[in-house]
Amino acid sequence: MPGKDVDLVVIGAGLSGCALVAALRRRGWCGTIQILEAGRGPGGRCATRRRRDDLLWRLDHGSPTLSFQAEPSGQLRELITSLENRGVVRVDHDPVVGLDHHGDVVEAPDHPLLRGPRWRGIPTMATVVEALLADGGKDVDACFGERVQTLSRVEESWVFPGGLRAERLVLSGTLLAHPRSLAMLGWQDVPLRQAVPHGHDPVLDEALAWIAGLNATIRWNLMLEFPAVDLDPFPRQIWLTPQAQQQFGVERLVLQRQQQGRLGLVLHGLDDGALITPKTQPHLLTVQQQRLLSVLPELLRPWPSLQRLASSAHSLGVMRWGAAQPLDQGMSKALQWCNQARVGFCGDWIAGSGFGMAEGALQSSIDLAELIAP
Ligand SMILES: Cc1cc2nc3c(=O)[nH]c(=O)nc-3n(C[C@H](O)[C@H](O)[C@H](O)COP(=O)(O)OP(=O)(O)OC[C@H]3O[C@@H](n4cnc5c(N)ncnc54)[C@H](O)[C@@H]3O)c2cc1C
Repeated sequence: MPGKDVDLVVIGAGLSGCALVAALRRRGWCGTIQILEAGRGPGGRCATRRRRDDLLWRLDHGSPTLSFQAEPSGQLRELITSLENRGVVRVDHDPVVGLDHHGDVVEAPDHPLLRGPRWRGIPTMATVVEALLADGGKDVDACFGERVQTLSRVEESWVFPGGLRAERLVLSGTLLAHPRSLAMLGWQDVPLRQAVPHGHDPVLDEALAWIAGLNATIRWNLMLEFPAVDLDPFPRQIWLTPQAQQQFGVERLVLQRQQQGRLGLVLHGLDDGALITPKTQPHLLTVQQQRLLSVLPELLRPWPSLQRLASSAHSLGVMRWGAAQPLDQGMSKALQWCNQARVGFCGDWIAGSGFGMAEGALQSSIDLAELIAP
């Protein structure tokens, strides 16, 4: 990590982290920003999987779209329009169908992610975060492959191993603030709690208490390569009805055309609650891959040309997604910026329209930018 002083460190280059950078610049804030991201590139849950053995391959293995509850307005509308005008996103009209527990095609089930308008990254979802990051300009430095494990504050500054110091800190995920990281990563204490003792910032104390109560949702996404196949009509998403989800342990299938007519397919697998630790994860990934491959032929029954190819589909492995997902309401916006400790939060888990989805991630960043740069 670079040894330097910056005005702001943002942990996480997902949709909200990158949107924060863009929103700060739109407000004319010209401070220096260092982004620290655990992944190999920007994107987080809106990332696109590439392959070393196939340079043309692009698969949106997390979120396939930016979903909104309703038509965006205000600054959110301005952001989407700016992305549309630059050709970064387009409205997603691609067919979404439902699949019931008999394995029959039905209308897509009612789900918050499908109710309102949706936008899609062009050509992939990663393009969206890349564009937002680029809006930050030259005073944004992004460091990838950098998983922050500890946080500390020294004389009113945030200090990182290697000598990086920052006046302000923003966490775009909850990993460093949530007790679930302790079991999952074998940590002793919640890093943000270690850095700021109880009582120093009452807003932070309240935020940490709220975050501790947040549930984590896990998805096991199996990525598959299919040879060229004719599919007409071509469903972009196949959503299982609630009963079918229970039966198959799968939320949906997402299809994405590749070069030379090939097809990328992502099975969004549901979690069964097994304890995930650094020790159990490799085994769980294998178990989930086998489980998802075994239900695939049944799920593809309404698409015989695809079903015939199921056994020859090439597995590109399973991606485990973990996210704190508020079911009823997100964390209050009043807790988004903790002024005493100079730490803030953005992400799809903050209250507001569209929390738990891309809309919420974007809106939370617009809101936080207003607090940092009033
Ligand atoms: C399988 C799946 C399907 C989805 N489908 C849809 C959909 O159809 N429509 C929709 O609108 N939304 C969907 N979503 C939700 C959508 O992806 C999220 O709302 C959005 O991407 C959240 O962005 P974020 O920046 O808040 O979080 P994230 O994308 O999780 O970003 C957080 C970033 O922080 C990084 N990070 C975390 N901790 C550390 C650390 N300690 N050190 C360094 N880096 C760290 C992570 O690597 C990550 O890149 C889906 C999500 C998943 C997982």
